[in-house]
Amino acid sequence: MENVLEVKELTTQFKGKVGYLTVVDKVDFTVRKGEVMGIVGESGCGKSVTSLSILQLLDKKGKVSGGEIRFKDIDLLKQGEKELRKIRGKEISMIFQDPMTSLNPVLTIGKQIGEIIVKHEKQKGSNVKSKVVELLQLVGIPRANELFHEYPHRLSGGMKQRVMIAMAIACNPSLLIADEPTTALDVTIQAQILDLLRSLKDDMDMSILLITHDLGVVAEICDRVVVMYAGQVVETTDSRTLLRNPRHPYTTGLIESTPQQSTIGKRLKSIPGQVPTPDEYGMGCRFADRCPKAMEICNHGVPPLLMIDENTSCRCWLYKEEEHGV
Ligand code: SF4
Ligand code: MG
Repeated sequence: MENVLEVKELTTQFKGKVGYLTVVDKVDFTVRKGEVMGIVGESGCGKSVTSLSILQLLDKKGKVSGGEIRFKDIDLLKQGEKELRKIRGKEISMIFQDPMTSLNPVLTIGKQIGEIIVKHEKQKGSNVKSKVVELLQLVGIPRANELFHEYPHRLSGGMKQRVMIAMAIACNPSLLIADEPTTALDVTIQAQILDLLRSLKDDMDMSILLITHDLGVVAEICDRVVVMYAGQVVETTDSRTLLRNPRHPYTTGLIESTPQQSTIGKRLKSIPGQVPTPDEYGMGCRFADRCPKAMEICNHGVPPLLMIDENTSCRCWLYKEEEHGV
């Protein structure tokens, strides 16, 4: 299948007190045409920084210091700000956890969505209004004509997220990056928003890169998934395999700490400890302090990311051991 996005050895650093710290460390993944690719991990694993690196929206302290990001035929890291501005919002768009940080409180909904259409699609006047109303209807907003004149604060969280989605799809992007799009919402609304994303993806022939800490969301919507831990990819596979047959001990830990039907009434496990910060990385596996399967070798060398079957790669000495009989 054709790739829309290819990320190779992406490395992003942030300026700290004593020089640069590597927050995203040689991350590799692809997003295929028409699929939902998930990036999963606890907060502080580098998921959001990875997504912000793609569109070069890092704050002043951050910089992409290595790797390649290929979107269709374009090498994004070689584009200047002017070219990137044309790509952002039109070819690749983003939605975030908190819609209020992206919605302008002093502009009406109609004006905000309309501005995007005017900017990227070069349309004017009543054409813009009818396109906005059409978009609002498409994302399931009732009374779209009335809502056109409303300000964001008048809407519920779920409705605000629908407006954000309308803005994100206004120009028919090929790739939508959604960073924790349902985390701030009630469970029932979460399910509705995921349904909406899935149906828009199918109708608009779009790909989605979905960032989440929640394996329930992965199960619901993702085709494939990358698990990130402490700035590195630790496992990549299709989401079915990931949930049924996790290979990396970190993935297993995430699954055991996710509520499921079979765990109702039982105490959930949790992964002890915390994700290390980049200045705490040692010589060995970054998960070693928290890993129930840690062995001697785990403290001495970072395990390589290995293909362990046709569609699964995993970064863990357990698999190296099995393969080579060390
Ligand atoms: Fe655990 Fe060792 Fe595998 Fe790291 S390399 S996840 S510490 S078993
Ligand atoms: Mg985040």
